[in-house]
Amino acid sequence: MRLARTYLDWNASAPLRSEARAAMLDVLDLVGNPSSVHAEGRRLRGIVEAAREQVAALAGARPSEVVFTSGATEANVWALSRWPRVLAPGIEHGSVLAPAKAASVFSALPVTAEGVVDLEALKAGLAEAAAADDNTLVSLQLANNETGAVQPVGEAASLVHEHGFRLHTDAVQACGRVAVDFHGLGADLMSLSSHKMGGPMGVGALIIRDGLNRPPLLPGGGQERRRRAGTENVAGIAGFGAAAEAARDGLNDMPRIARLRDALEREVMRLTPNAIVVSRDAPRLGNTSCIALAGARAETMVIRLDLAGIAVSSGAACSSGKVGSSHVLAAMGLAPSVAEGAIRVSLGPETTENDIAAFTTAWAAVATRAAVEA
Ligand code: PMP
Repeated sequence: MRLARTYLDWNASAPLRSEARAAMLDVLDLVGNPSSVHAEGRRLRGIVEAAREQVAALAGARPSEVVFTSGATEANVWALSRWPRVLAPGIEHGSVLAPAKAASVFSALPVTAEGVVDLEALKAGLAEAAAADDNTLVSLQLANNETGAVQPVGEAASLVHEHGFRLHTDAVQACGRVAVDFHGLGADLMSLSSHKMGGPMGVGALIIRDGLNRPPLLPGGGQERRRRAGTENVAGIAGFGAAAEAARDGLNDMPRIARLRDALEREVMRLTPNAIVVSRDAPRLGNTSCIALAGARAETMVIRLDLAGIAVSSGAACSSGKVGSSHVLAAMGLAPSVAEGAIRVSLGPETTENDIAAFTTAWAAVATRAAVEA
């Protein structure tokens, strides 16, 4: 007998939406190259352009601003490359921090204990960059993948633009979960990932404000208006577009998901009053809960929950099997003994009350055992 599984790791990857699956299957039966002028090629081109409109609509951007990539890692690396000076908080995803650190000057902006960037520190960093006359990029995620903390990107963009600098936002975890408006936020660059919103893996986008020139990361052919060479992943792009449209339609389901998340946290606190809900008092995504149990080992808890049929993450765990403490929780100043016991539970449109009950039942057993062993 196979145990019924409870999937609560939507921030790592969301299940493929049926709309995305159908769109991809349609493309797999087609022949041609979207750059070809014949009917077959034009048909594929039409599919790519329709998906571009769907993604643009979800993100509040113009279709001309959407450049398809192999995912958000590529989009982030591209957005962050070749800036003399980069400012970004230490809670960014590794695919932002790694290229940020390659800039001639990189400043890690501090965050509050709740995991929200310190705007006063941003102001100081911008003044320093202006004094040095460096062309500067600020990268500030829209929502954190581990805690769900939503960052003040609009306010940051205004500060950045006062100096004529540019702002990039990694909107991977926010887009499809909260309404995102690229132009309303005042962002210059925005990264998106298809598989976090129910599209396929290995496809994403960098949104580049019209008029802003970024040297291509992948030069070569003329695809994506010479901004990203390589024959397009048409099936993936079609799936991404369909997922983006479905995610937009599903935004009104977020309050239900947030109520389930809140019920889960209430029950966890009742069962284990010494647990800490990280970033609880910050503006947060409604689907994410980062729960820390001092003295417990997150890896052990994840394995025991897995054996009980529950899929959750420890720390970022974007790459499977990743062990080690979370740089996000460290940047927030959490004591290592607390951070090492932090797991991430993330919900999505298919999450039900039964899933929450399954989690809390398993948590009761796993947390009790962790307390005995501590
Ligand atoms: N940024 C954030 C905030 C993420 O959570 C992830 C995925 N773990 C990425 C970027 C990378 O996205 P992708 O998997 O599409 O490369």
